[in-house]
Amino acid sequence: MRYPNSPFFEPLAAALHHATDHLCPTTQKRVAATATLEELRGRLCLPLQKEGIDATQVIADLVAGVKDGLHDSAGPKFFGWVVGGSLPAALAADWLTSAWDQNAALYACGPAAAVVEEAAGQWLKELLPVAQEASFALVTGAQMAHVTCLAAARHELLARRGIDAEIEGLQGAPAIRILTSSEKHGSIVRAIRLLGLGERNMVSLGVEQDGTLPPRALQSAVEEDPLAPTIVVLQAGDLNIGAFDDFRRLIAIAHRHGAWVHIDGAFGLWAGASPRFKHLLDGAEMAESWTTDGHKWLNIPYDCGYAFIRNREAHRSSVSHRAAYLTHDVDARDQIDWTLEWSRRGRGFATYAALRQLGKAGIAELIDRTCAHAHALVTGIGALPGAEVVWVPTINQGLVRFLHPSAEAEETDHDGFTETVMAEILASGQAFFTGTTWHGRRAMRVSVCNWQSSEEDVAEVISGVAEALRKARSR
Ligand SMILES: *Cc1c(COP(=O)(O)O)cnc(C)c1O
Repeated sequence: MRYPNSPFFEPLAAALHHATDHLCPTTQKRVAATATLEELRGRLCLPLQKEGIDATQVIADLVAGVKDGLHDSAGPKFFGWVVGGSLPAALAADWLTSAWDQNAALYACGPAAAVVEEAAGQWLKELLPVAQEASFALVTGAQMAHVTCLAAARHELLARRGIDAEIEGLQGAPAIRILTSSEKHGSIVRAIRLLGLGERNMVSLGVEQDGTLPPRALQSAVEEDPLAPTIVVLQAGDLNIGAFDDFRRLIAIAHRHGAWVHIDGAFGLWAGASPRFKHLLDGAEMAESWTTDGHKWLNIPYDCGYAFIRNREAHRSSVSHRAAYLTHDVDARDQIDWTLEWSRRGRGFATYAALRQLGKAGIAELIDRTCAHAHALVTGIGALPGAEVVWVPTINQGLVRFLHPSAEAEETDHDGFTETVMAEILASGQAFFTGTTWHGRRAMRVSVCNWQSSEEDVAEVISGVAEALRKARSR
């Protein structure tokens, strides 16, 4: 037993104890944090003291300081936004990533970290509906995956017009037009802004009732300026209702005009890993680039997204960097050639561990199970007196709303009452949901991503919502 003498032993043992405590499911646990901003500031925003503090004490203080200030977002009754938990193997590998503390920028800096990413990237390509020849990058999330993919798009579209975007810059280059839908995620807009493509060059086309981009709309939009360099951004699972665009038809239209097609599949791309749902992604593999997340539906701790790019050279040319003091490898995969980061976390370990823990069948089962729970929650809540289904989930995202009990109630009253019931649910501590405005109405989103959510959780949450609704109606 050498380790009790290690300065790491005690603080890590304390962390293990606190972590398993936090993750242990108990009936008393409240899903939403209850501490106020004032309380948290009072406990945490202390003057930085002069002398150091024992490491284990720092951890104990930290745990005490954050008490009631953490959502149980890693737990089974958290259905807000699109938030996954952590698979045990992924979390353990993530801890080791910090202990190993490799700089995963180059093979030379962390050989095993580089090879693990190589393996994980290959597995991801086999699981997801992306081009098998695509290059890939493990990045911080879908936001940076968009930036990586669209940087490659910018490179390729301008290279075709004789412009080297990275060397010459955008001054003097023709404007790149970005055609997308009104349901796009805000991370697309930020990527466009950051890459100097200009939000003004983005056209948000209207969608059908089901959230999908009508092929006719795309057709007439491209024809407005048939020669303009164009990026078409499509969606695999929008955040309100999990809508999937008609990839086969839309990509065919885009390709007739030489456009680069990018797919935002932050969570929805994972439906392609389930035999039951993969038909929703028919044709998706025809695109030029794809993004998805590890930290949502795959249940990896935060800081994990993936970019895939068909044109490897465009990818590499737009982000790679060479310097004399770096040790570049000829045979191995240097991550600096594929990501916009320099010093960088060994992000591949957690993905590697999650994929191994689940296997192909386990991933498909996770997708199917969470979709079934989303369906049960939406239909179960929607059937309660005073509730209404707004969208039955296609995958793991659905919408419900709550109706004001007054006979003269109007739409705005229903909107307000939906907020009231959501606040009541949150205050009850029994579950966590977030809201949205969809087709002009307030609704409660039901988003199921956590590997731990069970049928019992679903049943308990439906009775919890029934209780909150009864309370709100009787006021
Ligand atoms: C969450 C999300 C994003 C952004 O992903 P991050 O990992 O948070 O950067 C983009 N698109 C969609 C559809 C999302 O749900």
